[in-house]
Amino acid sequence: MHSDRAAGSLIAALDIGGTKIAGALVDASGRLLVRALRPTPAKQDGETVMRAVGEVLGELRLDGGWRRVVAVGIGSAGPVDASRGTVSPVNVPGWRDFPLVERVARAADALPVVLTGDGVAMTAAEHWLGAARGYDNALCMVVSTGVGGGLVLGGALLPGPTGNAGHIGHISVDLDGDSCPCGSRGCVERLASGPNIVRRALENGWVPAGGAEPTAAAVAQSARAGDPVALASFDRAAQALAAGIAATATLVEVRVVVIGGGVAGAGDVLFGPLRAHLARYATLSFAAGIEVVPALLGTDAGLVGAAAAAAQALGLAEFSPEFALEG
Ligand SMILES: [Zn+2]
Repeated sequence: MHSDRAAGSLIAALDIGGTKIAGALVDASGRLLVRALRPTPAKQDGETVMRAVGEVLGELRLDGGWRRVVAVGIGSAGPVDASRGTVSPVNVPGWRDFPLVERVARAADALPVVLTGDGVAMTAAEHWLGAARGYDNALCMVVSTGVGGGLVLGGALLPGPTGNAGHIGHISVDLDGDSCPCGSRGCVERLASGPNIVRRALENGWVPAGGAEPTAAAVAQSARAGDPVALASFDRAAQALAAGIAATATLVEVRVVVIGGGVAGAGDVLFGPLRAHLARYATLSFAAGIEVVPALLGTDAGLVGAAAAAAQALGLAEFSPEFALEG
């Protein structure tokens, strides 16, 4: 079994964000065997960004494991359109409807290429090897500069036709609330993202302790020290997240909510009020009592998840959670 696995299939994973382009060869236990990393030249033209992707792939191809690669999985900052194979990441203006799948296939020996949004990829990772493992119905979320997410329903990842399903950050929870960059109003992200936690705290007179940078981590630190403005800003974020989670649980019945991303690093300052608000919003019998837990996979979730999502889309059973449980 062990020697089979050592010689088994690999998936080349790419995690493409506004600041870095990461790549890895991922085995059927979810281990990252080889890694490559480039900064994203996000302010450059599209071809320059693509060249950085090509360099990451080129580095992976130099490894002996490349001949065992059976597919390429890409998790990208959104919006993505998996049905057309294109990406238009908000933070990479050089890429608008950029044909990433076709370009990566060309650079990767015409292997099958599967594209998903980064929220869906993180969800695939947490379901495969993280905090949602063993759950058939889960909502996974990233609370960071933005708020993203994804769904596992009936034991399977639900990417949706374009790879964006579960994008809880742009559910409106404040009907006449502030306008959101997405075009809507009162979105979860507009209330709960790191920059909005900071903005609200600053607007209400919070000053970072010891002249620190005004970050969500600094607000969390003040909250832990009992600063009422910092506590209130986290409480409002928690309330927005709880309302979005309750709506999701009511629609599709999830049993667990996994929360990752930098803001989740605030710990009890976020999770405490989140659980309290959730008890108020998720009230129907089938939605009450949802578990809320921190994500387990950290910054590798994008790569692990890109591989997991590709494996599911292509029916590569050896990469499934059931096999990982045996391993
Ligand atoms: Zn929005």
